[in-house]
Amino acid sequence: MDTMRDKVGLIMGVANDRSIAWAIAERLHAEGAELIYTHLPGPSSERRVKRLVESHAPKLVMPCDVQSDEDLAEVFTAIDDAYGRLDFMLHAIAFAPPSELRNPYLETTREGWHLAMDISAYSLVAVSRAAKPLMEAGGSIVTISYFGGEKVMPGYNLMGVCKAALEHSVRYLAWDLGPSKIRVNAISAGPVRTLSSAGISGFDEMQRHAAEKSPLRRNVEFEELAGAGLFLLGPDSSGITGEIVHVDCGYNIVGL
Ligand code: NAD
Repeated sequence: MDTMRDKVGLIMGVANDRSIAWAIAERLHAEGAELIYTHLPGPSSERRVKRLVESHAPKLVMPCDVQSDEDLAEVFTAIDDAYGRLDFMLHAIAFAPPSELRNPYLETTREGWHLAMDISAYSLVAVSRAAKPLMEAGGSIVTISYFGGEKVMPGYNLMGVCKAALEHSVRYLAWDLGPSKIRVNAISAGPVRTLSSAGISGFDEMQRHAAEKSPLRRNVEFEELAGAGLFLLGPDSSGITGEIVHVDCGYNIVGL
């Protein structure tokens, strides 16, 4: 029960108690990890996240918009000051303007593309670069993707293209950071109901289809994503990097 004892980790992407990041954080905390949290800037988000993570008694809970280099610098400076190191980092962040997911992909705007790519894909590069100097003894970085980055999921649209960029970023980052003993992997999660997924047109259909067609004939549970997160962020996955691990009840292997 203590596999993460003495490990310090940064959790980015907790919005509420239905966030995938929260499910993974709960598991990491139960395994003894010391957790640092960031939340979207703003009083309501700060209040909600601080209240939620209180039970983990974190030393640092900081605002961070991943589009802001200043916010990122403040977070990693604060971690350096408080701990002088980081052992793992969870990146569970994505955003696209709702209109970009409602309209056909063909109608994607330049503004929408830049915004969604910046928050959903580039941010992993930015936070990995910022984390590297703190991971002198090696480390593990995990992000969360979706099968819509590999195959067309009508309605997932621009976010699917962001996930494709995110997944290939995982491989390039794994290559760059491997010599520093820093691993980078993604969980490709089956659909679960969260604040973000509620904004995807056709989400109910994605969940229904996944439950009908996946080998396990059901949708994935938050606890299963948490288990995969713990595995990839922890020591048991020490030989795995650059991997996209599907935690989707096997949905991705089915062609019909
Ligand atoms: P969520 O809404 O709980 O989490 C999304 C997070 O992104 C929120 O915490 C939000 O504050 C954060 N965020 C958005 N813009 C930001 C910005 N500019 N700066 C910093 N943070 C920002 O929803 P979730 O479903 O838990 O999403 C977490 C990740 O999992 C996302 O990458 C999502 O695409 C991915 N994912 C979700 C599902 C699903 O079915 N829910 C499936 C596969 C992958």
